[in-house]
Amino acid sequence: MSNNHYKIETEAIHAGQPPDPTTGAITTPIFQTSTYVQEGVGGHKGFEYSRTDNPTRSALQECLATLEGGRFGLSFSSGMSAISTVLSLLKSGDHVVSSDDVYGGTYRVFEQVFRDFGLTFTYVNTSEIAEIEAAIKPETKLVWIETPTNPLLKITDLAAVANLCKDRGVISCVDNTFATPYFQKPLSHGIDIVAHSVTKYLGGHADTVGGALITSNDKYYERLKFCQNAVGAVPGPFDCWLILRGLKTLAVRMERHEKNAMAISNWLSDHPKVRKVIYPGLENHPQHETARKQMSGFGGLISFEIDGSQDDAVRFLDLVKIFALAESLGGVESLIEHPGLMTHASIPAEVRREKGLSDSLIRISVGIENVNDLISDLDQAFSEL
Ligand SMILES: *Cc1c(COP(=O)(O)O)cnc(C)c1O
Repeated sequence: MSNNHYKIETEAIHAGQPPDPTTGAITTPIFQTSTYVQEGVGGHKGFEYSRTDNPTRSALQECLATLEGGRFGLSFSSGMSAISTVLSLLKSGDHVVSSDDVYGGTYRVFEQVFRDFGLTFTYVNTSEIAEIEAAIKPETKLVWIETPTNPLLKITDLAAVANLCKDRGVISCVDNTFATPYFQKPLSHGIDIVAHSVTKYLGGHADTVGGALITSNDKYYERLKFCQNAVGAVPGPFDCWLILRGLKTLAVRMERHEKNAMAISNWLSDHPKVRKVIYPGLENHPQHETARKQMSGFGGLISFEIDGSQDDAVRFLDLVKIFALAESLGGVESLIEHPGLMTHASIPAEVRREKGLSDSLIRISVGIENVNDLISDLDQAFSEL
């Protein structure tokens, strides 16, 4: 379906997007159509109905597959619908081992939707391979990894997980939303399936919601493609087009996100009102070596604990001016949030504390603005605190 001739900067602009054969349009058109006229019964051009296939979506799927170094890509209406579709590979009675610091919505759909269908879940610190190994049971069918995790930015060794899962005959799936294929390619480490919220860095402009799955495994692809159509949580052509447009600048955006995040995490580390800075690019990050081994950059997310109470953290969010108070991440604009009260509020307070998600923890998604403006903004907020 896709081939990898060029480097990722080039593929992001060209993969799956040759000039339109009928008009020469350099930009893939928005095929805003639900159905396709057939020349005779069964005589179609590869497209019958837009839930099943749409040319704008096909272009996006091929581009995403190429960027991840996979054979097959599938696009969805949201990251959550992509994640839910992975679970369609399982049956009642199956067991899943998951990172204990997953995206709040992933935890919610596991616990509050799929548990009722007879799936069971065990959450472990996947940074410790032994913990995954100990949690695998005869009925385990899937290991679900996020790396870096959200919001504690813990790193899991992808090659070690892939080897363990192959050994045990378990499907490995990695949510690669935070790193993006620009910094990390899980399939190249032997992982079976990559999941994305393309809402974040891949779209990159905070203007649409979407998801994706990428795999090189024929059997998983066939079932996932079947469920993409059967369940029907597909993105519209205009959303696909917006994501294709965002992808063209993925490389330059990720470079700047990371450069800004590195500078800000160093600045925060020296600040007297900061208790702790979590960023995989810092040498004091507990899995910094693993991050260096499997990532070509450390991304744009930073979590930090301010030296104060939850009220102080909430006040800090009010004091910043450039950083917008919002959920989500990965757009060109810098965002700030309180995981305990916002993105991870669906996780019970006791569970949050057990995981090390403290009440004074703040997460920032560092945008691509001028880094000195961003630092000055944080600085003035600290002095007002
Ligand atoms: C946002 C996010 C999701 C969910 O994606 P949606 O597009 O919001 O449905 C899943 N995983 C991670 C890591 C995310 O950041």
